[in-house]
Amino acid sequence: MASLISCPHCGARPKEEFSIRGDAGLARPAPDAGAEAWFDYVYLRDNPRGRHSEYWHHSSGCRRWLIVERDTVTHAVHGVRDAALSKLGGEPA
Ligand SMILES: [Zn+2]
Repeated sequence: MASLISCPHCGARPKEEFSIRGDAGLARPAPDAGAEAWFDYVYLRDNPRGRHSEYWHHSSGCRRWLIVERDTVTHAVHGVRDAALSKLGGEPA
């Protein structure tokens, strides 16, 4: 059975329509934070085991950016929300 992601705009769609674009929990450093903080932000990534949030782009659908909360061990998807609406407070986090 194909894995499905429930896009808030398009409904349940196969995961192949989406592109994973990285950790949604990263905080951008201040412009004057220093080279080490910027190096970490640009090049270093955690490899979490378990539940975490990622940016996904519905590149073959509505082309909206989503925040997908999933488990890296079981691949279970626990939630999908529109990234822009979440940041504007339009959807519960
Ligand atoms: Zn969509």
